[in-house]
Amino acid sequence: MTTEVLASYLRDSWWTPADPAGAAVVVDASTGAPITRVSTAGIDMAAVLDHARTVGQRTLGALTFHQRAVLLKQMATALTERKEELYELSTTAGSTRRDSLSDVDGGIGVLFTYSSKGRRELPDGRVYLDGPIETLSKDGTFLGRHVYTRLTGVAVQINAFNFPMWGALEKFAPAFLAGVPSVIKPATPTGYVAEAWVRMLADSGLLPDGALQLVSGPVPGLLEALRLGDLVGFTGSADTARRLRASVSPDVRFTSETDSINASVLGPDAVAGTPEFDAYVKQLMVELTTKAGQKCTAIRRAIVPAAEADAVVEALRTLLEARTVLGDPRAEGVTMGPLVSRGQRDEVIRHVGLLQDAGGRLLLGDLAEPQVRRADGTTGAAPGGAFLAPLLIGFDDPTTAAAHDVEAFGPVASLLPYATVAEAADLITRGGGSLVTSVATGDPAVALELLTATAASNGRMLFLDRADARSSTGHGAPVPHLVHGGPGRAGGGEELGGMRAVLHHMQRTAVQGSPDMLTALTGVWHTGAEAASAGIHPFRKPLSDLRIGDRVDSPEREVALADIETFARFTGDTFYAHMDETAAAANPFFPGRVAHGYLLVSWAAGLFVDPDPGPVLANYGLEDLRFVTPVSPGDRIRVTLTAKQITPRETDDYGEVRWDALIRNQRDETVATYDVLTLVAKTWEAAEP
Ligand code: NDP
Repeated sequence: MTTEVLASYLRDSWWTPADPAGAAVVVDASTGAPITRVSTAGIDMAAVLDHARTVGQRTLGALTFHQRAVLLKQMATALTERKEELYELSTTAGSTRRDSLSDVDGGIGVLFTYSSKGRRELPDGRVYLDGPIETLSKDGTFLGRHVYTRLTGVAVQINAFNFPMWGALEKFAPAFLAGVPSVIKPATPTGYVAEAWVRMLADSGLLPDGALQLVSGPVPGLLEALRLGDLVGFTGSADTARRLRASVSPDVRFTSETDSINASVLGPDAVAGTPEFDAYVKQLMVELTTKAGQKCTAIRRAIVPAAEADAVVEALRTLLEARTVLGDPRAEGVTMGPLVSRGQRDEVIRHVGLLQDAGGRLLLGDLAEPQVRRADGTTGAAPGGAFLAPLLIGFDDPTTAAAHDVEAFGPVASLLPYATVAEAADLITRGGGSLVTSVATGDPAVALELLTATAASNGRMLFLDRADARSSTGHGAPVPHLVHGGPGRAGGGEELGGMRAVLHHMQRTAVQGSPDMLTALTGVWHTGAEAASAGIHPFRKPLSDLRIGDRVDSPEREVALADIETFARFTGDTFYAHMDETAAAANPFFPGRVAHGYLLVSWAAGLFVDPDPGPVLANYGLEDLRFVTPVSPGDRIRVTLTAKQITPRETDDYGEVRWDALIRNQRDETVATYDVLTLVAKTWEAAEP
């Protein structure tokens, strides 16, 4: 055996065991030829954990959310430049170009998405504020609110064989953004793809020391050594998840995403000939053939109206015959590759046997060694490869337990007929919790019935109709913006998508203190904290000079009835509360005619702006606008504007400034509160007079 042992990336350098005796041999999915060996004999797991907890925590902790987000984008760009190499390597694991779109491009897309979400939705700091301020004393000197700070340990990420890149990056990106170092353990059969992209990142020089380590092989003692502040993110089989969870301390956050028996429902309205029917069958074909059906989100149960069952089978047969070329992904024109290994193929066939024993009939495909297109372009058997034709298995009794329990993790789906929508809903929930269910229907009543009856059994639901049939990302494609994970059999998690995936790597803590203290702790000005209104107008200050608490206090302006009428005529807003004294007085909220709220907000801008060209570049919106006290003719208003939050944009010459705006009347009552959002230059030189 001359095949080299796959390297691990430990403590910021590459490592292979000195004595890899007993290493597992990994083979090419299409030919069975050995390609690498996997062993971690002699690995010092304690040192790996220690490196993450010390060096990784220190380097990531030195960065703000935005700096980490920028690094994620640079990593995505570095991987994009070398993605052809990753496509090429992935063919060895049986991936076609389309399969690599979900694994390679999907993985890179996760990095881009978290980068942009991080810069838009997180502050440029290290503390994330959650929810509103709670005033805990009458005089406003004691406040409370919730903050998130990062966990102090290491994120251990154990991945399945089917997505060696996307599956790992969907865990790594949120951990990195939160500031928690990762130890990644890929699955043995495709660990070499993970090694390749980690090597590219290491070569790029973008990885802060200790932020990412890769263990290419077994991880003896790793889980048992985890403690409070550490996390485990697992993807794989439910059995392994159960075993691993039991070996981890209850103090450790353990999330699992496991195999589930996902359903796809054809609505009763989506009969043959409708665009919804076509979209349904096409999606079913894609799910059966992409990654040879080795997807945790793939459709395992096609739930269709009994009257449409034959039409679905025929339409699927026609599509598969026209569009599917099974073979070695290195051959021209191949659209469906092999399973990852012969062992996995045997497993799938065993599970198909269980479905058949329970009464399932093969409606499409068979279990024979298929004729495939080989790498040299010839067609014939490839007994060293793990090829299997797509299989559709029909059940006369759709409640057969095996159809809802047994997962054949390959190009296999069951066809289950239903009579009523309520019956379809019942069938969906028999899966015991799924990652995703899709529904093809143009009838909102059907969609609503299925949503309300089955959403609690699903992590995600996709409704397919003629309007989104072309634009839909598809049943089997989780997106990094949304929940990925599901209840029950799907693992019970939802922490693989969206900002909740970042917050999962952080701890929420209630913080109580004075306005000045909360301002100092959070970097956000809190009402009641010190503010500075003397000196130059804050609109004259570029970001380099502006400080939170910088304030402008305006003079008063009196509201006359004529102003209200002018504003009404000018804008066309002649609502009776502004124009009709009797009607306004009859309204329970107004003493009589009152000023438009928008008049007050417009006047407030006129009262607080400094009009000359300066570092304030644009006003891009208002948030949380509330009109609290009506303003009558003769009242006087004034505004206080205080710099509340300053967020420099890492990649631009300007940043965002959020201002606290408070309009009060002559009795000091609050008239309106809101935040003004502006873009302000980082530096500014006044023009020569
Ligand atoms: P496994 O559950 O066997 O393995 C998943 C991951 O866990 C792999 O990285 C594996 O590493 C690792 N692992 C196994 N034992 C340990 C351990 N004691 N300590 C630490 N890590 C461990 O899943 P497979 O990938 O082998 O696939 C088997 C079945 O799982 C499939 O047939 C399918 O049913 C399901 N599956 C579900 C997926 C999903 O996305 N939800 C994806 C893939 C598979 P190693 O490979 O080195 O053993």
